[in-house]
Amino acid sequence: MKQFQKYIPIISVILITMSVYSMLLTAADQSSKITYTEFVEQVKNKEITETEISGLNISAKTKDGEKVTTTSTSQYNPDLVKTLLDNGVNVKAKAQESSSFMTILISWFPTLLLIGVWIFFMRQMSGGSGGGKANPLGFGRSKAQMISPEDINVRFKDVAGCDEAKEELVEMVEYLKSPSKFQRLGGKIPKGALLTGEPGTGKTLLAKAVAGEAGVPYFSISGSDFVEMFVGVGAARVRDLFTQAKEKSPCIIFIDEIDAVGRHRGAGIGGGNDEREQTLNQMLVEMDGFKPTESVIVLAATNRADVLDSALMRPGRFDRQINVPLPDVKGREQILKVHMNEVPVSSDVDAAIIARGTPGFSGAELANLVNESALMAARSNKKLVDMIDFEKAKEKIMMGAERKSNALTDDQKKTTAYHEGGHAIVTLELKDGDVDPLHKVTIMPRGGALGVTMQLPTEDKVTYDKKYLENQIAILMGGRLAEEIILDQQTTGAGNDMERATSIARRMVCNWGMSEKLGPLTYDNASNGQPFGHGGRSQSNNTVSEKLAEEIDAEVRAIVERNYIKAKNILEENKDKLHKLADALLEYETLDRDQIDDLFAGKPVIVKQEAVRKRKKDQKTEEVKKDDKKETSSEDK
Ligand code: ADP
Ligand code: ZN
Repeated sequence: MKQFQKYIPIISVILITMSVYSMLLTAADQSSKITYTEFVEQVKNKEITETEISGLNISAKTKDGEKVTTTSTSQYNPDLVKTLLDNGVNVKAKAQESSSFMTILISWFPTLLLIGVWIFFMRQMSGGSGGGKANPLGFGRSKAQMISPEDINVRFKDVAGCDEAKEELVEMVEYLKSPSKFQRLGGKIPKGALLTGEPGTGKTLLAKAVAGEAGVPYFSISGSDFVEMFVGVGAARVRDLFTQAKEKSPCIIFIDEIDAVGRHRGAGIGGGNDEREQTLNQMLVEMDGFKPTESVIVLAATNRADVLDSALMRPGRFDRQINVPLPDVKGREQILKVHMNEVPVSSDVDAAIIARGTPGFSGAELANLVNESALMAARSNKKLVDMIDFEKAKEKIMMGAERKSNALTDDQKKTTAYHEGGHAIVTLELKDGDVDPLHKVTIMPRGGALGVTMQLPTEDKVTYDKKYLENQIAILMGGRLAEEIILDQQTTGAGNDMERATSIARRMVCNWGMSEKLGPLTYDNASNGQPFGHGGRSQSNNTVSEKLAEEIDAEVRAIVERNYIKAKNILEENKDKLHKLADALLEYETLDRDQIDDLFAGKPVIVKQEAVRKRKKDQKTEEVKKDDKKETSSEDK
C-alpha cells in the first residue's frame, strides 16, 4: 500500500494533463470537417465566403457563419485558388510555420508532458535531507547528513565489545584532534578505513564515536544514495559531498553500504553499471585528491568486503580494513550493560546470564532485546524490567511471538510434555559431560513449535567435537523415544528432530570425516541438501558411486542408531523422573533449570512470578531510589 501511495501524485498529474490535453484538442476542433469535393461544391454554390489556406489545411467560413475545414490534395494547387477567387471567396494564405498558438501548444504538449514528468521524478529522487533548495533540480547535490560536533553524543564508551576495532580507530581520533601536529612530524596521514562486519555490529556507531571523540563534524551517507538511474548523478553527488566536507575539515565522512557503489567494476547486471563505475571513479579521484591541509577521513562500512573493487583498497584510500565482529559472550554482556543503562532494570537481572543465552546476537539485536524487554515490562505495568521480561523478549525474538490463543488440547499437551521431557531428561542424564547444559523446558506453543527444550552453551562454540555431536543426536532422539516408551505412540511432531539428527550424522560422515569406516575424507554430494536417507543416491551427480553412497547411508544409520539406543537406555532407567518432569510441565508449562533442579531434589517448585514478587518486596526501598534517579537522568537526553 505504501508503495502505491507514493505514486498517487504522479498518476494524478498524468491523468490531469491527459484530460486537459484532450480538452484542448476538442476545443481547437469546433469546426466540421468536410471532404475536398464537398468543399469545392460549396465554393461553386457560393456558400463559402472566406478561406484560410495553410499548407494542405484549409479552413473556411460559410455564409451562415459556420466553420468548416478540409484538406487539400496538394500543397501547390493553383486551380483551387482560381476557383476560389472566381467564386468571390476572400482568400487568406498562411505560411505553414506560423500556425496558431493553440497548434503549437498541442503539437508540443506530449513533449512538455514528458519533460514535466521527468522533472517531477528528479525532484522526488533528490528530495529529502541535504536540501536541493539552492539548486531547483537538486539532483547533483549529495544527500549527506551532517551532524555538528556538539550534537554527537556517541563516544567510544557507548560502543561495547569491539575493543580491537576501537584501538585501531584511536589513532584517527588523535589525528583529527590536531592534524597539524601529525603533519608537522611528517607522520603517515590516515585517509580512510573500511569497517567490515555483519549488519548491526556497531559500524555506524563506531564511526560516529570517532567523530564524537575527536569533536569534528560527521557526514553520513549511504552508498545506495549515490546509485541513480541517471549516469553522472552519483558522481556529481560524490563531488558535492567532498566539497562540503572539505569546507568543514577536519571531519569524518561515513559511507554506509559502500558495496552499493564499490563493487568491482564489470561485475553486476544492467545499465546501472556505467553509473556505478563513474561514481566509484569519482570517489577514488576525490580520495586521491586531498590536499595536505585537508583532514577528511573517510570511513566506509560493508558486510560484503569480498565484492569490493580492489582499487578501493589501494594505499591512500581505504588501506585499512577494520573488522567489527559479532560480539562474544563478554562483548554481549558489555553491550547489554550499555543498553540496560537506558532502562530501569530490576536487580535480579544478570547481564552475564542473558549474554550466555544469546549466542550469535549482534549489537543491534541486543539493543532490540533490551528494548523489547522494557516493552514487556511496560505492558504488565511494572516499574522495573526484570529477568522474566528479558526471557520473554528473548523468546519472542528467537522464536516468534507466543501464540497463547492457539492452545493445545489436553492430549496434545500430554504428548508435548513427555516429548520435551524426553529431550530434557536425556540432556540431564548424559553424564559424560559434553553437552550444553539444560536451560529451560516449555510446552507453551510459540512460533510454530509445540514446545521447546533449550540448552545453554557455557561458551560460544566455534568447533564441535564428535562426542558433543553424538550426544546432540541422542538428545534429539529423546523426544520421540519418550512418546514411544510412555505413551506407546509415534507422532509427526518428532519429524524435525529426526531431520536434524540425520543431518548431523550425515555431516559427521560426509563433511567432518568422523566415521571410522569411511575415514577422514569428505564426500561432497551426499550431504548437499540431502539430509534424508536415500535421496542423495538417485541424483544425477555421480561423484559418489552407488556403492559408496550405500556405505555412507549405512554409517549415517549406525551413528543415529547407536545414539537412539543410548537415549533409549537413559529414558528406560529414568522413567520416574520423566513422569515427574512431564507432570510438572503440564502444571507449570514452563520450567527453567533452577525449577527442574528443585523438582528432582524434592523441593517445592517456586513459580517465578511469585519469587520475583517476593524479592521485589524486600528490595522495595532500594528500587524506589533507583526509580527516582532514572526519572531525572532521562531528562537530559
Ligand atoms: P551497523 O552499522 O554495523 O549495521 P549500527 O552501528 O547501526 O550497526 O548498530 C545499530 C544499533 O545497535 C546501534 O545504534 C546500537 O544501539 C546497537 N549496537 C550495535 N553494536 C553495538 C555495540 N558494539 N555496542 C553498543 N551498542 C551497539
Ligand atoms: Zn523434539
